[in-house]
This record gives sequence, C-alpha cells and structure tokens, in this order.
Amino acid sequence: MQKIAILNCLKANEVCTGASCLQAFYRRSQFFARYDGQNVELAAFMRCNGCGKDPRQDAGMQEKLERLKQEGVTAVHLGVCTKKRDGSRCPVIAEIVEQLRADGMEIVEGTH
Ligand code: SF4
Repeated sequence: MQKIAILNCLKANEVCTGASCLQAFYRRSQFFARYDGQNVELAAFMRCNGCGKDPRQDAGMQEKLERLKQEGVTAVHLGVCTKKRDGSRCPVIAEIVEQLRADGMEIVEGTH
C-alpha cells in the first residue's frame, strides 16, 4: 500500500479546515485522481512551522521530516496555499521540498 502526505501553509491554517484537501483525497478527485482504484493511505497532514524559519535549522521540522521517512511516505502533495499570490513557491516550502526530494519522496503540485 502506498502512503502519501499533504503539506500545507501554517498561515492558511488560520482559515482552512483542510476539508477540501481531504475531500479530494477521499473522492480521488483533482490531484488525487492518479490514485483512483488504488489502496492509498493518507499518512500525514502537516504544515510548515512558519515564515522565516529555516527548515534546516528547525529541530521540529527535522523531526517531522524524519517521521515521514519512518512512515514510508512515498509522495507529498503540496497545497495551493504553499504558493505566493504571484504563483511563485514560498521559499520555506521550497527548502522543505528539496529535503523531501533528497529523501526520495515524489513531490506532487496540488491537492484540490
Ligand atoms: S513559510 Fe510559507 S508556507 Fe509557511 S506559513 Fe509562511 S508563507 Fe505559509
């Protein structure tokens, strides 16, 4: 069974329940349509630790990234909230993505 995770923006967490991400996952719609008919576990639903926090110097974030590895997560979906209004990638998320890729995880742009 494949295990996946969703990574979202901490600021967005103030206004977001995650319902649209979860709905898309359970319905295998939008960016989760690729798993249609497959047995896939949503193993983690995580957020960054906030603006300006270098993930490489952030013990808490390192612990979270390590946990994804331990869980055997193979792909991480990035919420639309992890992009700035101009469509560019948030630099903190970009650094997290780099580490996830180095750990062998696939990065999928989008959830719903
Ligand atoms: S670092 Fe990026 S993803 Fe995290 S809260 Fe700030 S804007 Fe959102």
